[in-house]
Parts: sequence; C-alpha cells; structure tokens
Amino acid sequence: MTSNREFDCVVIGAGVQGSFTAYQLARRNKKTLLLEQFVLPHTRGSSHGQTRIIRKAYEEDFYIRMMEECYKLWTQMEKEAGVKLYRQTGLLVMGPEKNESYQLCKNAMLKNNVPMVQLTRENFGLHIPNVSLAEGHAAFVELTAGVLYADRTLRAVQGQFQKTKRLVITAGPWTNRLLVKTGIELPLEVMKINVCYWREKVDGSYDVKQKFPCFLQIEGEKSREHIYGLPANEYPGMVKVRLRKRLSNLFV
Ligand SMILES: Cc1cc2nc3c(=O)[nH]c(=O)nc-3n(C[C@H](O)[C@H](O)[C@H](O)COP(=O)(O)OP(=O)(O)OC[C@H]3O[C@@H](n4cnc5c(N)ncnc54)[C@H](O)[C@@H]3O)c2cc1C
Repeated sequence: MTSNREFDCVVIGAGVQGSFTAYQLARRNKKTLLLEQFVLPHTRGSSHGQTRIIRKAYEEDFYIRMMEECYKLWTQMEKEAGVKLYRQTGLLVMGPEKNESYQLCKNAMLKNNVPMVQLTRENFGLHIPNVSLAEGHAAFVELTAGVLYADRTLRAVQGQFQKTKRLVITAGPWTNRLLVKTGIELPLEVMKINVCYWREKVDGSYDVKQKFPCFLQIEGEKSREHIYGLPANEYPGMVKVRLRKRLSNLFV
C-alpha cells in the first residue's frame, strides 16, 4: 500500500508514449505523476505534428501482434475522449517482388491473417489510380492501416489523464505562459532584477563571519527605491546589494 505522498509510478516525458503510459496506469488506479520538461503542448518531441501512419505491415511477428493491442487501445481512447483519432485509409506497400524485406513483410501479413489485398500488374491500376507499379515490383494493400491524428491524440490522452480537483501554479516568471493555456489572464509582469556585488574597502569589514547583518535602507516617501543587502558571504570580500523597486504600493 502506498502512503498519501508516494506515487505508484512517475513517468518522465509527455510524448505519446509517456502520455499513454500515464493514462493507462491511472485507469488502473495507479497513482501516477507525469513529468514534462516543456509547457504542453510543445513542438520539440517526436510526437508533435498532425498525422502519423498506423499499420501492421511489419516484417516482425511481434510488431504485428503488438499492433493488434494498439488498435484496441486507440479505439478505446477515441470512445473515452469522444474524438476521432484514426482514419482508415489502407496502406499500399510496393517493392521489388523478389526483395527479402518485401517478402518478409508480405509473408508476415499472411501468416498473421492481417486483412490485405494482393495486387497484380493487371489489377493494380483499377485499385490504385494515378500510381504506376515499377517493372518487376509487386504490391499489396494492408486494409486496416490508416492515419492517426497526432496532435489531436496528445490533447485527448493528456486531457483524459490530467484530471485534478485543484491546480497550484507556482511557476515564477513562467506563470503567464502556463496561464495562457487555461484561459485565465492575470496582470503579471516579469521584471529583471539586477544584483550588484560591492567590494569591501577594508578586508572582512562587512563579512558574515564578522557578524555584519543583512540590511535594509528605507528611503523617503517619494523614493521609488529602497536599498537592501547581505554581508559578504557568497564571494569573499563582496557585499551583495540591490535596489528594491516600488510598484504602486508594492516593493519587489
Ligand atoms: C517526422 C516524424 C514522422 C514520424 N512518422 C511516424 C509514422 O508515420 N508512424 C509511426 O508509427 N511513427 C512515426 N514516427 C515516430 C513516432 O512519432 C515516435 O515513435 C513517437 O512520437 C515517440 O514518442 P515518444 O513519447 O517516445 O517521444 P517524444 O514525443 O519525443 O516525447 C518525449 C518527451 O519527453 C520529454 N522529456 C525529455 N527529457 C525530459 C526530462 N528530463 N524531463 C521531462 N521531460 C522530458 C520531451 O520534452 C518530450 O515531450 C515519426 C516521427 C517523426 C519525428
């Protein structure tokens, strides 16, 4: 049994693999944390873009068997999210008839009873208009292959997984970037803060080891800035000094 503060699983990376994994774990009532380095959705991983091919036309049996399960999971996701993620188009596979890869792929399809139509030179044009089959090449169509809508999928699966009663955003200067995704607008402003280090004139005179205190110099009413600082500590002989700016009634 896990304690309240313990996750059953932490998944790092919210591409299609991580998002589906996290979602499937959550469906099995596993307390799951999905971590992503970029604000979602982002365009820097392999999973972004609008479309991908889904197919069973592989040379290896294990891929074909794995795809059986994949298709079921895609259908399940479509139902649960109420979004169309897959469009059946078929996959036309062409290659030199005697080529090893072509034969392996075709034979794996036949052996695993994957629905397909083998095309001959004679009937090729009837099934596939506007494409010519090269001399010496053979072709088949894998019927259940099609297009997966990648971006739509990521949104759907992440939407299904990321359900929470409350959300706490403590993203500092990145807060606005996150809030944009929620439709909430707050009057936040990212401010640059300069930190200066002043060198002691007399060695050790403002050193933390000499018990020199942190300090705050409050300026007059009209001043828009206060000064504060810390004793020499981070760098030998350097006192850290900063201006604290007034923004309406607030100092930052
Ligand atoms: C152009 C292109 C076309 C493709 N076409 C097809 C196709 O037609 N059919 C097909 O089946 N496959 C296709 N693929 C392959 C398929 O898209 C990828 O196999 C799949 O998207 C991989 O998903 P992933 O989740 O493993 O990786 P990614 O989508 O790259 O996700 C990895 C995630 O991990 C995050 N991450 C990394 N490090 C950290 C960290 N330290 N902390 C937090 N997060 C981190 C990244 O930011 C990223 O979001 C294609 C790939 C590309 C690029």
